[in-house]
Amino acid sequence: MARYTASVCRLCRRENQKLYLKSERCFTPKCPVERRNYAPGEHGQSKKKISEYGVQLREKQKARRIYGIFESQFRRYFHLATKKKGVTGETLLNLLERRLDNVVYRLGFGGSRPEARQLVRHGHFIVNGRKVSIPSFLVSENDTVEVSSSSKDLPKMKRLVEIAKSRAIPEWLELDADNMRGKIARLPRREEIDVPIQEHLIVELYSK
Ligand code: SF4
Repeated sequence: MARYTASVCRLCRRENQKLYLKSERCFTPKCPVERRNYAPGEHGQSKKKISEYGVQLREKQKARRIYGIFESQFRRYFHLATKKKGVTGETLLNLLERRLDNVVYRLGFGGSRPEARQLVRHGHFIVNGRKVSIPSFLVSENDTVEVSSSSKDLPKMKRLVEIAKSRAIPEWLELDADNMRGKIARLPRREEIDVPIQEHLIVELYSK
């Protein structure tokens, strides 16, 4: 299946909010959501009433776009969430947060999830001492995520670590920036997952 290669800013404009897919640019006035706050395309500015199904669909699309996941993979996460104990929507978000690319982003080693995904794919990280280049790898409590020794001296990694030092790290993660290492202290609680998603709408959509 082909990966999305068009401008990711169109995805933010389609969802009518910032999804933070482009690191520094997202925080500047150059962000297209700041300048053109309407959906892209010929009919982007037309006012249409959205059905209940449409609202649920948009919420699911937004979640997929934030975490950069294909539909089939997203469905698998949902299926997995239904099999686990607890509130399905919260379990779904918990699974998404446990992806290695997301954890690398949350630790501050990537300016955006797409950038973190690319760093993982290029083999810059080791988990519990073993190289992992699969962005969808699910981390667990007490796992350690570290920049690989061969990547620690790369100017790019040094720059990213300097940026990581200035960023707020969620409480469920521990960062040892000087050693370019992070630890999953515990799994995140719902209130610690700061994504603008109403997960119950996704559950309703897939439960139809
Ligand atoms: Fe583009 Fe970032 Fe703005 Fe989204 S938030 S439109 S990715 S600059």
